[in-house]
Amino acid sequence: MDGEKLIAFFKDLHSHPELGNYEYRTTRRIREALEAHGIEMLDSGMETGCIAVIRGEKPGRVIGLRSDIDALPISEETGLPYASQEPGVMHACGHDSHAAIMLGAALLLKEQEAELSGTVKVIFQPAEEVDNGARNVLATGNLDDVDEFYAVHSYPWFRPGVLGIKEGPVMASVDKIDITIRGKSSHAGYPYRSIDPIPAAAALALSAQTVVSRNINAFSPAVVSITRISAGNTWNVIPETAELEGTVRTLNPEDRDMTEQHLRRMTEHIAAAHGCTAAFTYTRGSAAVINDAGLCEKAREVARETGFETDLQEDTMGAEDFSDYLARRPGVFIRVGTGGFVESHHSRFRVEPEAIPPAAAFFARLATVRAAAD
Ligand SMILES: [Zn+2]
Ligand SMILES: [Zn+2]
Repeated sequence: MDGEKLIAFFKDLHSHPELGNYEYRTTRRIREALEAHGIEMLDSGMETGCIAVIRGEKPGRVIGLRSDIDALPISEETGLPYASQEPGVMHACGHDSHAAIMLGAALLLKEQEAELSGTVKVIFQPAEEVDNGARNVLATGNLDDVDEFYAVHSYPWFRPGVLGIKEGPVMASVDKIDITIRGKSSHAGYPYRSIDPIPAAAALALSAQTVVSRNINAFSPAVVSITRISAGNTWNVIPETAELEGTVRTLNPEDRDMTEQHLRRMTEHIAAAHGCTAAFTYTRGSAAVINDAGLCEKAREVARETGFETDLQEDTMGAEDFSDYLARRPGVFIRVGTGGFVESHHSRFRVEPEAIPPAAAFFARLATVRAAAD
């Protein structure tokens, strides 16, 4: 498949976006393109998404290349001739370009199968945006033998021809907090007969910020956001309970643990100071994406070799379930400059299609080099 055909493939996916776990047409199109070139598909048992495998004729290691394929519930406003034909659904995170790039890489690897040492598994992961895709793909067991993982992500702030590669943490862990403070209800005219949970909830919402400002190292980014407070039903009754919800984002695992501990202790003690009791639930979502330093250097070498400039990508407090792969084996989350200069998850986000064929060549080369490494 030449560059033109790869771009046409991308535009077709862009016109027909599908939400996480509903990527039936997308999966069919990817499979058809791979199978038309004689590429073996692993029997993943997944309803959407798929994994292709290219087995070199010489022995070597196993490399995983990961793309994601789902879209977002956003109404597209780009005005592009190949804009979404699905009302209210849009490829606003560039996952259509990720699928095209990794398809292109798979086809190049297939052409070079005779020279390939080792095996490359090319992952078309569903449901990244709804946060269970990576877990489901890993649960198939198809990737248990992978030695290193590399992910592609479009990046609107770099022009095509630039790759963002940075060692260490680049995307945050995402956790959820649920708190219920329990007091005792009464007539609002007789507050001394109540144990009012509202002052405790208010104090907690304010104090929660001090975990970031007083406990976390000032050089280490962390976010605590209380995003919902709810209590009571009417104006003249002191309620029995108050609820708070929020999120914690950190780049370093130690900060994650520390934030959980501090928030838990603060909740118990602030509730107790007001005579209330508290239930504190901390639910861990994706971990931080932490790029392996040595492998970043290897990826930079391949970038230079394939004609790319490299830059550092900015750290973000957003999240990516690629961290689930990195929890098993080392790897690198690589940003591909796709221009457009509009933030992802925006109705006018767009990928410049010419970024796709060179990126496919880069990932094919990277997988070849790493599969053959000692
Ligand atoms: Zn996204
Ligand atoms: Zn994304």
